[in-house]
Amino acid sequence: MRGKVLAEVRQATRADAAPGAVLDDAVRAIAAALADAGRPRGELAVVGLAIAGEALGLPVALENDANAGALGELRFGAARGLQQVVYLTVSTGIGGGIIIDGRLYRGGQRLRRGVRHMVLDPDGPACGCGNRGCLEALASGSAIAREGRDAAARGESPALARLALSVGRDELTAEHVAEAAAGGDAVAAGIVTRAAGFFGLGLAAIVNALNPEAIIIGGVVSNLGHRFLGPAETAMRERALALPADAVSLRSSALGDRAAALGAVALVSASSGRVS
Ligand SMILES: [Zn+2]
Repeated sequence: MRGKVLAEVRQATRADAAPGAVLDDAVRAIAAALADAGRPRGELAVVGLAIAGEALGLPVALENDANAGALGELRFGAARGLQQVVYLTVSTGIGGGIIIDGRLYRGGQRLRRGVRHMVLDPDGPACGCGNRGCLEALASGSAIAREGRDAAARGESPALARLALSVGRDELTAEHVAEAAAGGDAVAAGIVTRAAGFFGLGLAAIVNALNPEAIIIGGVVSNLGHRFLGPAETAMRERALALPADAVSLRSSALGDRAAALGAVALVSASSGRVS
């Protein structure tokens, strides 16, 4: 089991279709991946699924994508060889998985909710949970995109206004804000830095509570690179207690958006003697 990707097929989830249609799509994707890899179906020993249970509105049958991502990084990625790891994936929202003593902590659901909705600014923007100023409302990809759209609407940022004109203001994403920041737009850079600072406060609380050896960051903000992770790490180290702060390293995901799929491979390889 070397975690080598032989073929990769992508297709959008038809979240509003019947469960059977989604399953049919998954079966077709597996057939296409086998064809791309030039492997007969008979060679397939077992199929692992990592499912975004929340997005589908279904119970999580096998493993949700955040836990699978943590497993993928543990087995094949940035957390290899570590025992105490927090994996956070920050895209539209914030998800993650926790590794304790080298194993996935399966009671992480409530902890994860607590991380997403820790209040960092009581007067901050409204959060989907009904509260204000939660980590997810301040530091997710959606939060960065919202700030970018607001700045474009107020005419504060020429670069964001131009992007809004070309893609439509409602379509501005965190990546657009990062693009404007990289191009030298001070307002866009400020949006990314501010979100990163709040994210760092959240990280400090996680470091103090769990004392991990590493926090692995995946998702959109990981793609923003040092522009986001730099200020986030500075804030984390300023605010966390000295001992746990000294023990932790902040790392980008090594597997990117393949983490969950490789986590599914790790999951089935742990439970099946047939994969080698
Ligand atoms: Zn909230």
